[in-house]
Amino acid sequence: MSVVDVTVVGAGPIGLATAIFARQAGLGVTVLDGGPTDGDKACGEGLMPGVAPLLAELGIDPPGHPLEGVVYHQGSTRVEHTFPGLPGRGVRRTQLRDALLERALESGAHIERAKYVSLTQERESARVLTDTGDHITSRYVIGCDGLHSSVAADLGVVKKPARSAKRYGIRQHFSTQPWSSHIEVYYSPDAEVYITPVSPDTVGVAVLGPKGINLETAIAGIPELHRRLVGATPASPLRGAGPFPHRARTQRVGRVLLVGDSGGYVDAITGEGLRVGFAQAKAAIAAISKDAPETYPLAWKRVTREFRILTKGLVALASSPLRTSIVPLAHTFPGLFGMIVNRLAR
Ligand SMILES: Cc1cc2nc3c(=O)[nH]c(=O)nc-3n(C[C@H](O)[C@H](O)[C@H](O)COP(=O)(O)OP(=O)(O)OC[C@H]3O[C@@H](n4cnc5c(N)ncnc54)[C@H](O)[C@@H]3O)c2cc1C
Repeated sequence: MSVVDVTVVGAGPIGLATAIFARQAGLGVTVLDGGPTDGDKACGEGLMPGVAPLLAELGIDPPGHPLEGVVYHQGSTRVEHTFPGLPGRGVRRTQLRDALLERALESGAHIERAKYVSLTQERESARVLTDTGDHITSRYVIGCDGLHSSVAADLGVVKKPARSAKRYGIRQHFSTQPWSSHIEVYYSPDAEVYITPVSPDTVGVAVLGPKGINLETAIAGIPELHRRLVGATPASPLRGAGPFPHRARTQRVGRVLLVGDSGGYVDAITGEGLRVGFAQAKAAIAAISKDAPETYPLAWKRVTREFRILTKGLVALASSPLRTSIVPLAHTFPGLFGMIVNRLAR
């Protein structure tokens, strides 16, 4: 029986990045995914400027639309901040997946179309059973199977969120020329609407809010946005995600590590997820390369700390009676707002 170094469960962006980092470290890697083959997912698709060095390390340069900064709108108040330094990029998930998949295959990762079913651990190895009946034995397993991670559930580390705290996201693309090279964020009374330009003729619309949020209703409730999108043809199917937050007590049990959304995800309100996920992938591979998986949870805390603090704070504010003051406050204190956006840009 041959034993691979790492089995990665999930070929989303973080699973594929994990596989590429593993190959760069000289580790043999098998990636399993049994989900949709197009790599599409509800996402705001904004890659913040801080993602650029990580994409370069991964050796990919996916096509997209430059993102110069962020504009927040609430009622008639508008506040804009341009990223210092290099821009970010709006990238369709399908194109990000294609670039990562091509790179992972080139680097020698083995990709299998199969679903993770269950897991057993020994002292020196872990064994994954797939829905095709195969057993894959490896020195380490890395769960990158997203928000509803079966790997995290099987490890018994998932914490249930409070009922009232649950939020959801939906997304659809529209064929229209982007009217801004910034991410445009509209705060309505119960939802946040993100417009991300992803090509010269397409914008992505992502809506975040409580259960039951509806894309059409959200757009119709924001007159400026409705005017811009009226008549624009939908350019992708409607996709939904959630609920979040997803919380895990730890990101490592024995020889199994959790990376990306599977190990914990707060909310999409700060338009992050990919940057912190890529950073976790790097940290996990660094830990297992040294045969020190026990060091990963601390590294996870370090690379996700700012994201967790800022995102939790913003969600709490957006869910409080102060919600209507968020953009007016940012307008009154542009220095503070700029500091927060610059932090996101890192
Ligand atoms: C509405 C919304 C807007 C967002 N906007 C942004 C943004 O603008 N910028 C940003 O950086 N982040 C954003 N995010 C967050 C970002 O989408 C996630 O953090 C990111 O997708 C996490 O990637 P992942 O690979 O961990 O998980 P996923 O992308 O969910 O991938 C998980 C993979 O695991 C596979 N899988 C699941 N179960 C199994 C199984 N049993 N066996 C095998 N494979 C399995 C799935 O098929 C999938 O391919 C947003 C999220 C939402 C919901």
